[in-house]
Amino acid sequence: MKRLIVVSNRVQPPSEEATGNQGGLALALSAVLRESNGIWFGWSGGETESFTGLINFQKSAGVTTATVDLEPQDILEYYDGFANRTLWPLFHYRVSLAEFEREFVDGYERVNTRFAETLLPLITHDDLVWVHDYHLIPLGQRLRERGVANRMGFFLHIPWPPMGLLVSLPNHQELVEQLFAYDVVGFHTQDWLDNFLDYARTHMDAEVDEDGTVRWQGRTLRALACPIGIDGAAYAQTAQSPTALAMCRQMHESANDRAMIVGVDRLDYSKGLQERFMGYERLLATREDLQEKIFLLQIAPPSRANVQTYQEIRAQLDSHSGRINGEFATVDWVPLRYVNKGYARDVLAGIYRAAKVGLVTPLRDGMNLVAKEFVAAQDPEDPGVLVLSNFAGAAAQMDAAVLVNPYSPEEIADALALALTMPVEERKARWRKLMDGVVNEDVMWWLDRFITALDPETATAGPAG
Ligand code: UDP
Repeated sequence: MKRLIVVSNRVQPPSEEATGNQGGLALALSAVLRESNGIWFGWSGGETESFTGLINFQKSAGVTTATVDLEPQDILEYYDGFANRTLWPLFHYRVSLAEFEREFVDGYERVNTRFAETLLPLITHDDLVWVHDYHLIPLGQRLRERGVANRMGFFLHIPWPPMGLLVSLPNHQELVEQLFAYDVVGFHTQDWLDNFLDYARTHMDAEVDEDGTVRWQGRTLRALACPIGIDGAAYAQTAQSPTALAMCRQMHESANDRAMIVGVDRLDYSKGLQERFMGYERLLATREDLQEKIFLLQIAPPSRANVQTYQEIRAQLDSHSGRINGEFATVDWVPLRYVNKGYARDVLAGIYRAAKVGLVTPLRDGMNLVAKEFVAAQDPEDPGVLVLSNFAGAAAQMDAAVLVNPYSPEEIADALALALTMPVEERKARWRKLMDGVVNEDVMWWLDRFITALDPETATAGPAG
């Protein structure tokens, strides 16, 4: 098998002990990296006065990581700037939140060049290079310019927007051209893939074959839809670990016979939290019979706190949650538990398991792993119901969930009412279908499909084959 080089903005090395707190993606990538003696390259998350390109190598649980520090200005323009203030909102269909600053583009290009220059000496002629996510779109081109002829793949973990939105980005064509440096480009869903192909065909006059082969100015890439999964079987076990079961019991006790609805999301405007609160408010206002019988636990750890839109949405949610409780709470019932803290994986699994309803209503989401984790954590004899946004990538695989339009408070309220009163037989039937999908189309299945497209030989030799 060929050696794999994974590049992502941040690197998540496996820990030496199995803590049960490692994400599915990190574990799956680590397995292949270990097997192929590969390297995981990216930003350390740290700062340095001026960029040196000095690589910090570490080996943890058999995986070699190679990280570099960035300058404060790089972090501001590349990470906070072009990645999170331009591409993130635009690619989540929120053009009006996107900021188009030339310095952001310059910083983005600069960091990608620095990454390429630093990574170049580590690449040997037979390695497979796999670049992840919107922070690093130009990296492949920068490596090609420096003579790298290896097979290179790119995977986008967020949506790809429709052409009509993408063209509001001043450097849209340049960005898409950069993708043509890769041999394989993967998206989570057919929708995101179709948006990309539409742009290539219509705007660039590229030739697109049925199987996703795209030819443009002498370059050929293979574009594919390849939805990421979780390690469903392992997650189901995590949900029955002593920590998870203790947490599950604790939640049952504190629920005091009330049905728990749970939401778990980074505090991000793409997650539809305000609209979700409006939907829940609508349910409380229209269904007096449910008052004091239910509560919503919304876990929302803050993220990207340097970016102003994130500070604004946090303030709005603070006041919205206060309003809901002010209006509906009684002396011994709090209808909304709103928590700005993150929880460890196994603790979360126990919380999911104690819930009657998992409420996952992003306005746009590349995939959404919480939806899959919620399903994997359920008790097969008494499973909770997943209420899922039509606009999460996960909806394409999870049509046995109760699907909703996340912009509609009525639809959210109706879906909650349906889920809270659903007979156990229907809950089981829906859950079985969802769980089959989560277990079969798991993270190894995803990884194997992508690597097969990149290099069939390695895929069959690797642990995924
Ligand atoms: N997560 C966590 N603790 C928390 C909240 C979230 O470990 O308190 C994890 C969650 O289990 C999931 C991931 O963070 O694995 C979020 O992934 P998702 O695809 O749902 O959304 P993203 O944050 O990547 O947009």
